Amino acid sequence: MVELKPCPFCGNADIVLCGGDGILPDGGDYWYVNCLACGGSVYGSESRTKAIDSWNRRDDAALGGDGDG
Ligand SMILES: [Zn+2]
Repeated sequence: MVELKPCPFCGNADIVLCGGDGILPDGGDYWYVNCLACGGSVYGSESRTKAIDSWNRRDDAALGGDGDG
């Protein structure tokens, strides 16, 4: 399992890594991280590690939650 930090939006620890290699219609890779409690997520990335990194760093530019505040 990959190491995913708790949700930056709600603090829930049930975090899932979604996507896969070659799942896009053009054969590209698509990965994102999603919180099962509040639905918070990071924008999709072509890289599995990038999606994980964005989530774990709480990258505001990549986080695609409510964006409130
Ligand atoms: Zn959450």
